Amino acid sequence: MRAIGKFILLEAAEFEHWLADQKITRKMKWVQLHHTFIPGYKHFKGDNHFALCQSMEAAHKERGFDEIAQNLTIFPDGKIMVCRNLDKVPAGIKGANTFGICIENIGNFDKGNDAMISQQRDSIVLVTKALLKRFALVPGDQTVLYHHWFDLNTGKRILKEGTGATKTCPGTAFFGGNTVEAFKVGLLPMLK
Ligand SMILES: [Zn+2]
Repeated sequence: MRAIGKFILLEAAEFEHWLADQKITRKMKWVQLHHTFIPGYKHFKGDNHFALCQSMEAAHKERGFDEIAQNLTIFPDGKIMVCRNLDKVPAGIKGANTFGICIENIGNFDKGNDAMISQQRDSIVLVTKALLKRFALVPGDQTVLYHHWFDLNTGKRILKEGTGATKTCPGTAFFGGNTVEAFKVGLLPMLK
């Protein structure tokens, strides 16, 4: 574990112990999964975890947020950065922030771009699973949310794939795809 200011960098193996020590009072109903798009894999140099989080924070402040938008960031090497206090509502998905934890995964996981490294893959599964357990949430498409499932303008959940104004986030190749169906096949079984 290493900290610079509020940013705390954890090894994947440290996460569950760290989480067990946290006092969290707000009600939690779901975990959001995103990809950063930029920075992508080409921006990750193996030792610049803090610099990347600091520059994301600067970019988010420019957009008017008071600090970095996400609670957690997961890197290609599987390390996890605590960014925004878990007890603070993130700025991840319009319409789904109040009861959510926001995880940003470094990379561009749209088809044909960054191919997810296994350490990051394992860490995303481990962290999501640990959070669901901590907040006593049953793994499913109501407790794990992809940004793509929400209309960017209305903040409402999209009822039919392919409609509404959506982002591809967390990527059209994220654990096999960004649709609810792809989630059920590609990620959900690993969260159970
Ligand atoms: Zn997103």
